[in-house]
Amino acid sequence: MDRSEVLIVGAGNAGISLAAKLLRDGVRGVTVVAAQPVHRYKPLLNYVAGGEAEMADLELRMADVVPEGCTWIRDTVEAVDPAAMTVRTRSGRTLSCATLVLCPGLEEDWAATPGLQAAYADGWAASSYVPGSTPTVWPRLRSLRSGTVVFTVPPEPASCAPTALKPLFMACDAWRRAGVLGNLDVRLVLPGATATGVPRADEVLERAFADFGVEVLREARIETVDADAHAVVVGSRSGRHVLGDVAFAHAVPHYRAPSWIADAGLAGPSGQVDVDPETLRSRRSGSIWAIGDAADVGTRPSGGALRKQVAVLSQNLAAAARGRELQRYDGYTVMPITVARRTLVLNEVDRGGRPSPSVPFLDPFVPRRSTWFFDRYVLPRIYTRRILRGRV
Ligand SMILES: Cc1cc2nc3c(=O)[nH]c(=O)nc-3n(C[C@H](O)[C@H](O)[C@H](O)COP(=O)(O)OP(=O)(O)OC[C@H]3O[C@@H](n4cnc5c(N)ncnc54)[C@H](O)[C@@H]3O)c2cc1C
Repeated sequence: MDRSEVLIVGAGNAGISLAAKLLRDGVRGVTVVAAQPVHRYKPLLNYVAGGEAEMADLELRMADVVPEGCTWIRDTVEAVDPAAMTVRTRSGRTLSCATLVLCPGLEEDWAATPGLQAAYADGWAASSYVPGSTPTVWPRLRSLRSGTVVFTVPPEPASCAPTALKPLFMACDAWRRAGVLGNLDVRLVLPGATATGVPRADEVLERAFADFGVEVLREARIETVDADAHAVVVGSRSGRHVLGDVAFAHAVPHYRAPSWIADAGLAGPSGQVDVDPETLRSRRSGSIWAIGDAADVGTRPSGGALRKQVAVLSQNLAAAARGRELQRYDGYTVMPITVARRTLVLNEVDRGGRPSPSVPFLDPFVPRRSTWFFDRYVLPRIYTRRILRGRV
């Protein structure tokens, strides 16, 4: 049986940056399990969907991002045995460890929206969230001149869900410049009463919806989709709506945590790993921890949140080994949204929704061109040069 000191499930933003940080801190025997040969910087997917980036800007070879000194097992975890501290993989291996960190992210729940997967296959629906479809989004949006177009924000749990508004605003701005915005009927399906639940962020976004004439369906979610009829059925607080004659649907699938988390008795009510949201330690097993989109930390999942989570978790693994006091994660997260083509509001908040600017005195609710430039061009470089190398 293969044994590791720290076994990390998943090699996304969470898994790679944690592995790199632990190695930098001198931990030995770090293993990551991940089958995918490609690592993606996901925030740029929205810029691809908005015509401001290419897939090549965000895709890295996994072999190039797994840190030196880390064992990479190219496999998929299918079961966890918390009592034995082992995981079983798809190829039938059993891996054991002293410390287990779960960060497999979320997976698409296609069954939650009948018809949606067929609509993606048809090309009538696509989104920034499904990488195989992302490069088709901007050519479709750019070519629209009239008709109805539907955008959705996925309900929780979802990965930084409010950023699904980026393609909407970038497209609206481009349509206005092309003089066709007035011919388009832009509909948005929002899972909540407002876009973020953070009053100052919502004020900015509501102004932008009104400015572009976006019709918002609130406390709503897509129920079914019919690619042949070009129809989207939406259930909302005001009843059921059938949106017909839809030219293109930027319909994001719903998400769920992998089912093996619940099968192992490690999930909370959301299906994500039930951790203490401050210490990031499983409430069910003292040697199991979780960060990233698959962990229920009581704040919106985001890559920005991971900068803090990785720092706290790496210290807590060392503190737990020495019986010292654990550090606490304050729930910091970020929901960067372009409210025009090249203007962005950062929306950095703590778990209580209070402003939590990473640059002191920079109001995170003011839309700026400088924050757009930072999000589009500077952060991707910080991600590859610092975050993935454990320099958080
Ligand atoms: C379209 C989009 C835009 C976003 N925009 C922003 C943004 O602007 N700002 C921001 O801060 N955040 C943004 N995010 C959120 C951010 O990208 C995520 O919060 C972050 O990637 C989460 O990292 P993770 O490692 O938890 O999950 P992931 O990045 O999903 O990585 C999980 C990894 O685990 C692997 N895996 C899954 N199951 C298994 C298994 N059973 N066994 C082994 N490996 C497994 C997966 O293949 C994957 O490699 C965005 C996300 C999306 C989708």
